Amino acid sequence: MSTQLNISRQSYVFAFPGQGSDPCGALTQLYQCVPETRHRIDTLLAIIENEAAQYEPEPKPGLVTQVLLTRDHRLPLPSGIAQLALYGAAVVLNQLLEDAGVRPTLILAQSFGEIAARVCAGVLDIAQGARAVCALNDAYRAEEGRGTMLLINLSAQATQALLDRFPASNLVLGSVNAPAQCIISGETADLEHLLAHHDDSAHPLRPVAIAYASHYPHHQEVARRLLENLQPLTAKPFNTPIYSTVLGRRYEATEDLHEMFTRGVTQPTNLPHTLAQLPTDEHTVFIDLGVNSGMSMCIRKSLPPAQTYAPLAEPIETLHHLLLKAPTEQAAVAALRELANGPVDAQAHAQMARIFSDRQLHPRANQSFHDGHRQTYQRLQHLMRQLPEGIHAFKQPQLLMAVASHAAINDPSLFMGCVIQQGLCIGTLLAFEQDHPHAATWRRELEAGETLGVYALTEIGHSNSHMGACVEATFDADTRTFVLNTPNKAALKFANVGINNLNKVGVVFAQVIVQGQHCGVFAFVLPMSDAQGPRPGISMSSPTEIRAVPLDYGLASFDHVRLPFDAWLRDGASISASNQFHDPLGSTDRRLIRSLFAPKNVWAMVGVGLSSVMLACSTLALTHANRRTTQARIGNGTSLLAFRTQRRALFGCLATAYVMKCFANDSARLWIEGTASQASLQATGTGDVTWTPWAAISQTLALTKALCAPAAEALATECRLRCGVAGALNLNRFADYEGMAKIYQDAGGNNRMILLDAAKVLIGQPLSEPTPPDPQGKLDDAEYWLAMAHTLEYRLLKQVADHVAQHRGEGEDDMQIWNSQLMIVARAGEAYAHRLAIESAVRAGDSLAQGLAKELASALCGLYVLEYLNKHAAWFISEGLMDIARYRALEQRLDTLSDFLTTHVELLIETFGHGEATRAAISNVDDYPEALADKLQWAVG
Ligand SMILES: Cc1cc2nc3c(=O)[nH]c(=O)nc-3n(C[C@H](O)[C@H](O)[C@H](O)COP(=O)(O)OP(=O)(O)OC[C@H]3O[C@@H](n4cnc5c(N)ncnc54)[C@H](O)[C@@H]3O)c2cc1C
Repeated sequence: MSTQLNISRQSYVFAFPGQGSDPCGALTQLYQCVPETRHRIDTLLAIIENEAAQYEPEPKPGLVTQVLLTRDHRLPLPSGIAQLALYGAAVVLNQLLEDAGVRPTLILAQSFGEIAARVCAGVLDIAQGARAVCALNDAYRAEEGRGTMLLINLSAQATQALLDRFPASNLVLGSVNAPAQCIISGETADLEHLLAHHDDSAHPLRPVAIAYASHYPHHQEVARRLLENLQPLTAKPFNTPIYSTVLGRRYEATEDLHEMFTRGVTQPTNLPHTLAQLPTDEHTVFIDLGVNSGMSMCIRKSLPPAQTYAPLAEPIETLHHLLLKAPTEQAAVAALRELANGPVDAQAHAQMARIFSDRQLHPRANQSFHDGHRQTYQRLQHLMRQLPEGIHAFKQPQLLMAVASHAAINDPSLFMGCVIQQGLCIGTLLAFEQDHPHAATWRRELEAGETLGVYALTEIGHSNSHMGACVEATFDADTRTFVLNTPNKAALKFANVGINNLNKVGVVFAQVIVQGQHCGVFAFVLPMSDAQGPRPGISMSSPTEIRAVPLDYGLASFDHVRLPFDAWLRDGASISASNQFHDPLGSTDRRLIRSLFAPKNVWAMVGVGLSSVMLACSTLALTHANRRTTQARIGNGTSLLAFRTQRRALFGCLATAYVMKCFANDSARLWIEGTASQASLQATGTGDVTWTPWAAISQTLALTKALCAPAAEALATECRLRCGVAGALNLNRFADYEGMAKIYQDAGGNNRMILLDAAKVLIGQPLSEPTPPDPQGKLDDAEYWLAMAHTLEYRLLKQVADHVAQHRGEGEDDMQIWNSQLMIVARAGEAYAHRLAIESAVRAGDSLAQGLAKELASALCGLYVLEYLNKHAAWFISEGLMDIARYRALEQRLDTLSDFLTTHVELLIETFGHGEATRAAISNVDDYPEALADKLQWAVG
């Protein structure tokens, strides 16, 4: 039985069997069918031949090699040759696997197999191992022909009962190989007697190909001699733990290995018992290093449903792939994964994967909205308690990116909660805690999950409400306190206040009014509610229902709530004893930008989160399409991915996900650098606010969200549709992901506004014309891609800039000037964001070494860019940047690229997939109907 091998997902136990198998011709097929291994095999066997020549009493030069590589020999072989050949086959196989990057995490050794196991564990080198085999041969030589072993398919108890029927003989139970397979060991005469009197035809006794009795208590002298022979060999420390079936446990580093090995001469082995001690899981695969599949069969019988692979007994194609293709593919998976991980290292990802595998963090299905919201907060509090210390105060900002990635894939509602708690509330307090006596305490309570954050900025009455908060914080000079008040319904705050009897802390944005003067929008921190409900003067509405990503969004108002002076996150601003307000920033626009410092954290988190979700969606849908076969009349029985429409759509999705991931990673790096250097406390944007403050805060980060959210929404919809019923089922998460993408069209700032602002800022700056694209440029040339994308952006911006200059000169007001151009402005902003994303993906691809990873990265980037050019083809043709022949060639190239990617679909799923994290019925299982049926409860009539 063969197991699918997947180096990056599985952990391997190398199992080294004992003697008794026939080594003749064991490496013949490998030698013939995988010529690339020949030199290595020759070299390794030469080492063994060399040792045999020195330490065997009657050396037979070249015989071990001939036995293994030809089919010219038969059992019985001359003394000691079978052992040297079995050892040779095991170490050759071990070495070839190691060369291919297949390494064990544990070693399981049965009896004689302990010698090769020690080589595998780095305790002995190959020559020393060969000497150990010669030492064993020497110790047993006097016993050869005097005893042997018999196999019987009975339990240990039944076998012992059988032996008890022959009290006069010295037969012993030498090995327990499986719950119903044992080996009887003894002298020839006793065994012949047993054979002659054994009348149970259902359980025949079968001879084992061994010339002496092993695991035989009467062989004290053999053991003594073996121990003596082994002494010259010095052992190095283990690099991999060995479990011995003689000891029934793992070797300890301090044990005398020679003495331990000699125990096998007189003591029995027990494979099922030893297997029970091994720390294995569903990812464990046992690789049988024997010349046949005997040991793997025993492992499967002893430890169902163990996965096993016996390289020398199974079709050679698997081994061929493992030795030659797997290393290349493995390297590609590793390189692309690292690229996709971006600034978050693999360790942080692994740490988060562990945290999010906690069942307490898994959302429950079929909850009412209200219960669902409560449970989201319970998960959020649990998560806050599990997060590593480094995440606090953003000391290791990449950890926040890791949280974003895992929370988004696992649970969009929890992701929303995290964004508010960590990104917005903790982020604001952290930014302004320097001159605040208590902000750090508020922050630590949020970090510990003792309180839940509410970020109340948006007001419902007016569009672009962020530009001018109407909630007032009026300074009371007599008490030096503030009075927080919602003057009218238009100033109601929209925030996560629907559950009103939890410990919630608000970061509330209000217009500071000192002596009747409007001094700008500042953040205030205040307790909003506790177990008894809203705090006095605060009103919190019931939750509004937002199906896309449920969180308890509702409305809040403040009725003359008195706040202590310290509720004001004043950030260097002051009110003197004579009630004079002073803000070192000098303008209310700059203050607004500064107060809205935290959304940067959101954009970085959302970029990383949504790009991870895009990869998860695409790989889920690819997994499904790849496994699903059709009953259509054409292509009957083939995979859905064989169909061009399916292929183009899904690889198109993966390509988008890949490019967005590269873009989001670059933005995350920017954010991490800013956070680490505290530059994030400065406004990094231009300071120019028109529609919203976002582009002025950080254009690149805001654009990342503005590009990722619509891309993710379209992608999730496409993937859902490409999966039919499976796509429609909530449990496959497409709807969750689509919902999450949808809400980030507005949450964290309206994307259209971000694009408009970004383009307007660019138009206000001198524009430099990029090098125009070569009309004959190659379609797979990154320079051509960038030139096309940049030219599109430039010409759109230039068109608006010229219009603005001309019409300003004619005295039109800003509304007239800009409004007539808004469609182009938005398109220019989008083109700019696309160009940044393409640049990120090209840079990421450039960072890869030549090889498969680079080819795949280039194909993904190419697919994305060519789709983009295809979408804008009419514009390019109208601008003379594309002719009809080129337009037609685009289609062809898109087909070629998706065909190429199809040939590596498994690898791409492996690289970019999130497997179990999605907990979907179609994610990680071979049999979708069974997996789906298993996820449901059944009523049986
Ligand atoms: C699920 C969700 C969660 C949210 N969470 C929070 C939160 O925790 N805290 C918080 O404070 N806020 C939150 N928000 C609010 C969010 O920031 C706003 O929805 C967003 O900024 C848009 O504001 P608005 O809804 O008032 O839309 P509007 O500003 O009214 O815009 C409506 C539409 O008109 C267009 N438009 C508006 N003005 C112009 C213009 N001048 N020119 C051209 N087009 C224009 C926009 O593009 C948009 O399509 C959340 C929103 C959502 C949907």
